[in-house]
Amino acid sequence: MVDVAGNLGAVQAEIAAATRQARRQTGAVTLVAVTKTHDDERIRPAIEAGHRVFGENRVQEAASKWPALRREWDDLELHLVGALQTNKAVDAVTLFDVIESVDRPRLINALVKAMARTGRRPRCFIQVNTGEEEQKAGCLPGEADDLIAGARTAGLDVSGLMCIPPFDADPSSHFTLLSGIARRNGLTQLSMGMSADYATAIAHGATHVRVGTAIFGSRRS
Ligand SMILES: *Cc1c(COP(=O)(O)O)cnc(C)c1O
Repeated sequence: MVDVAGNLGAVQAEIAAATRQARRQTGAVTLVAVTKTHDDERIRPAIEAGHRVFGENRVQEAASKWPALRREWDDLELHLVGALQTNKAVDAVTLFDVIESVDRPRLINALVKAMARTGRRPRCFIQVNTGEEEQKAGCLPGEADDLIAGARTAGLDVSGLMCIPPFDADPSSHFTLLSGIARRNGLTQLSMGMSADYATAIAHGATHVRVGTAIFGSRRS
């Protein structure tokens, strides 16, 4: 048995402590509870404990889980944190309130069209591949300024930036890099930090931390 409510409380307490320690305002950091691979039984205790902001990495999986939960709770906020294919843009803007993985011009175009078609307008984060890893989604750091400008010109509601540092690296330099790109582009929101490094991310200015394992336990993948 995983004590979801207990884990959630512990993570919230650690977020509050890291926020204080960084001399940032109470409530400056939003916890996105990442529920990928977990079913209703695991998710409900978090909602019942009062948590409202959740993340999924796959459109199809989110479509099978969240519409029913949203019918029960009308104040949930759902973030897409995984790579998005252009052919799923309509489903994504229909399901999600925030899309954190905008990373290329073709996807920006698909999202603009999907928003026009559905009348939905989720907030967007531009994902930056700060470690310049071959296999990883996100634009290269050197492309970020142009992509942000392009997304704004196209009419997306660009709130901030997101990154996933390389698995085996010290994340600090990646958080610093992301925060610099945000600052020079006038963006105030930074989605960075996961179970292993969210306190570090908060020290570097994260406004959103995406935490799965520390709340819901290990994933069956
Ligand atoms: C799965 C996932 C997370 C959560 O990772 P944990 O290490 O389980 O906290 C955060 N961000 C993204 C993009 C993910 O896919």
